[in-house]
Amino acid sequence: MPRNKREHAIVIGAGIGGLLHAKIASQFFNNITVLDKDELPDGASARRQIPQGGHANALLPLGQALIKGMFPGIASKFEDDNIPVIELGRTLAYHARSGRMSDFSPTLDIHSFSRPYLEWRIREELSSNKDIKFVAGAEVAELLRAGDRIAGVSTSGGRDYTADLVIDASGRNSTTPMLLKKAGFESPKSKFIDAHVGYASRIYENVALPEPLNALYIPPAPPQDTRVGVILPIEDGRYMVSLMGMDGNYPERYEGRWMDFAKRLRLAQFYDAIKDADPVTNVSVYRNTVSRWHSYESIRMPMNFAVTSDAVCSFNPLFGQGISGAALCAAALSQWLSREFAKGGNLDPSRFQKMLVKTNGPMWTMAEVEDTRCSSVEGQFSVLKNALLHRYMDMVYYAITRDSAVARRFAEVMGLVQPMESLLYPDMLARILRA
Ligand SMILES: Cc1cc2nc3c(=O)[nH]c(=O)nc-3n(C[C@H](O)[C@H](O)[C@H](O)COP(=O)(O)OP(=O)(O)OC[C@H]3O[C@@H](n4cnc5c(N)ncnc54)[C@H](O)[C@@H]3O)c2cc1C
Repeated sequence: MPRNKREHAIVIGAGIGGLLHAKIASQFFNNITVLDKDELPDGASARRQIPQGGHANALLPLGQALIKGMFPGIASKFEDDNIPVIELGRTLAYHARSGRMSDFSPTLDIHSFSRPYLEWRIREELSSNKDIKFVAGAEVAELLRAGDRIAGVSTSGGRDYTADLVIDASGRNSTTPMLLKKAGFESPKSKFIDAHVGYASRIYENVALPEPLNALYIPPAPPQDTRVGVILPIEDGRYMVSLMGMDGNYPERYEGRWMDFAKRLRLAQFYDAIKDADPVTNVSVYRNTVSRWHSYESIRMPMNFAVTSDAVCSFNPLFGQGISGAALCAAALSQWLSREFAKGGNLDPSRFQKMLVKTNGPMWTMAEVEDTRCSSVEGQFSVLKNALLHRYMDMVYYAITRDSAVARRFAEVMGLVQPMESLLYPDMLARILRA
């Protein structure tokens, strides 16, 4: 940690990305101001600007480890709040295209909660830090320029905030490319992949899963089967039930059609689990699921300004990577700031933005592999590279139903605690070819 902290950092956005970056920034700056255009509720309630909060938001093993490391007291709060634990390898039934994934031991255990709960819990952890101030209802409308650097921001209410660093975590609908242009700086090019994914979700009580299960996942198998379903336990003894469709096969809001979609999933166990369960909410729908990457690493960025998390790269959320990705970006912020503080002077973000390429690249590839199986997929990707990966992943999907060591490695890769290449290490390759 630096011996001389600087005075003030602004974080744009109090989503999970913004919160994790505020935590790291507080180790380098005396004061942090987190600005969000939304209202920030006192409890674990939905927010207007976080529509994904009404849908399944799994926190993968990597994200759990990083967040528990950043907030050492948080795991005991999960226990106090009776947050359920999913034991991957035992209590989650993962039905791959060629059958149910084998159980494995030791299991990979993760806490499972709703997105509003997790965000509120982290905000609570930060609220005990007097150096971090939240300003709700503050929409950043302008970046304040001073020569080659950003000196602060201006809100749509006309209030200026100056800072030694502005961290932009404004999420997948970020307007930063436009704000940079307006301030006279270069604006990044972007690429996208769109597999036309839609969500429709509702919360239930009294879901009927057979022992010892507490979670069920039917992943996509495009192009033949584009229907996806997930049941996850959350706080208060409830379950988040999300239906997702790829290739424009969207689940709908209307009760009858929503149930009909559930009935047509490739595994009857899913419908059986919810048919007599008690809905607690209406169905909410969401379709803004394009994977998009703004290449801030390729432009001349203003000094003292860093863009991060979904505002740089947002993924098709079917793979549950976003929060873990945000935690990785926060870890990169810590490394970058340590280096820049040691150098002194203005904070040059070009290195940080390049670090995020390494962070986001593997997650982008994982989403791309499945997205590019869809017949309606649009965007920028390599057909040949993905065709080879499809062939290999088909063998992996088959092997996980027969070999518990491959199943565990696959779960580790999907949980981001092992790299995708680890499915090609000689021991795994031999098992996958043998299966
Ligand atoms: C349907 C769906 C399902 C998902 N499921 C998962 C999952 O299972 N697992 C997982 O890890 N991730 C999932 N994600 C992704 C995950 O929600 C995000 O990647 C993660 O929360 C990090 O987001 P963020 O903080 O960068 O942005 P966000 O969570 O979008 O937060 C951005 C914040 O910035 C604020 N803001 C925006 N513009 C301004 C402005 N100009 N001024 C002030 N404030 C502003 C917004 O109000 C908001 O609070 C899902 C996403 C979607 C859409």
